[in-house]
Amino acid sequence: MEIFNKTQKEIARRIGPESNLSNWRDWKWQLKHSIKTIEKFELLTGINIPPEEKSDLKKTLERFPLSITPYYLSLIDTSNYKNDPVFKQSFANVNELTVLKTDMKDPLSEDLDSPVEGITHRYPDRVLFHVSNICSMYCRHCTRKRKVGDLDSIPDKEQLRKGIEYIKNTPTVRDVLLSGGDPFMLSDSYLDWLLSEIHAIPHVEVIRIGTRMPVVLPYRITDGLVEVLKKHQPLWINTHFNHPREITASSREALAKLADAGFPLGNQSVLLADVNDCPRIMKTLVHKLVQNRVRPYYLYQCDLSEGLAHFRTPIGKGIEIMESLIGHTSGFAVPTYVVDAPGGGGKIPLMPNYIISWSTNKVILRNYEGIITTYTEPESYVSKFCDRDCENCNLDLKLDEPDEMKSIGIEKLLSDSDKTISLIPNHNARHERRDNE
Ligand SMILES: *Cc1c(COP(=O)(O)O)cnc(C)c1O
Repeated sequence: MEIFNKTQKEIARRIGPESNLSNWRDWKWQLKHSIKTIEKFELLTGINIPPEEKSDLKKTLERFPLSITPYYLSLIDTSNYKNDPVFKQSFANVNELTVLKTDMKDPLSEDLDSPVEGITHRYPDRVLFHVSNICSMYCRHCTRKRKVGDLDSIPDKEQLRKGIEYIKNTPTVRDVLLSGGDPFMLSDSYLDWLLSEIHAIPHVEVIRIGTRMPVVLPYRITDGLVEVLKKHQPLWINTHFNHPREITASSREALAKLADAGFPLGNQSVLLADVNDCPRIMKTLVHKLVQNRVRPYYLYQCDLSEGLAHFRTPIGKGIEIMESLIGHTSGFAVPTYVVDAPGGGGKIPLMPNYIISWSTNKVILRNYEGIITTYTEPESYVSKFCDRDCENCNLDLKLDEPDEMKSIGIEKLLSDSDKTISLIPNHNARHERRDNE
């Protein structure tokens, strides 16, 4: 297994005489030597950025700082860097300064839906907990681009306690998603403390960690870290591979450590123009992921954050990719394609259409090959009126805890127990006329 290739040896040599290959796998050494300037980028890669581009690039870096780990830098194909998917995800592009009228600082309204510092509470039963303000690499397509480099720190215990207290006081929260920044920027002992505090809350059933470390700094996944994490099961880990080129000997090793330790692994990709907006690239990526025991979880439509215009594709590109995956490959290799709703509505799944038509007893469907088929619906199905009286229901699920009685959203329209027949946006003019009468 090749861990140190020629490029990596050359980069390590250029970083300085005190560095040698025994440091290469030390994640703190990698962080200390992260590439933050154009000059250092040029020095370590041997790439010469055209002089006429430099002043605009510097302006870009003032607004959106640069940080690339030597490891991630070593994945760039220097002979064709302009087309390189690793280069495009990590090196600044002057197009980041183009802000469209429809772009937003915080398109997902994460700050508005924040009841206390560090928490975004959007869905009924789960919260996003921002436990780190920093990342080992600054992805150029970051949805939280507004915050990158603002606060170069890890929140102290006092700050994190505010989030922990909120979770403690909110019994509906059963799933806590640690994000940031990258939670694995926290030290092993700090993570140990944080995970203990959260798991000690009786209503928290699972914790998830979202991290890009296996992709951009796989050496962070040390045996010591894995030992700490193992104390806090059930723990799910989601990472962020966007291109098959990111799957290397080092990242495979990191993923294997996590999978061997028993953490279910997922991957969240972002659909990025000129990086992975291609059915073949995506299919290769999902195949490589499942080979490494990582389940493709989400494929995100690129958010409307400022500075990302050049990365966005039409939604049709995502549908085309989904069309090329569903049925064509293993079901567990197919992610869910989602748009994170601008304004904070959460993730909305999108799919090609498989229902062609419908009558009272037949549904006409098409499959991935284009075959059109008929599913005949049952004649004898007796619809049960559900008043949510589970105690007296003959389905007798014997659930320990009865489900929340209140339904929300479309679920409410479908239920028998709720009299609501339509959901009406606030300030609907027609309804306001009625109220005024
Ligand atoms: C994505 C997200 C979650 C988790 O959503 P899942 O669909 O359960 O993975 C939770 N909270 C916020 C704010 C999110 O953006």
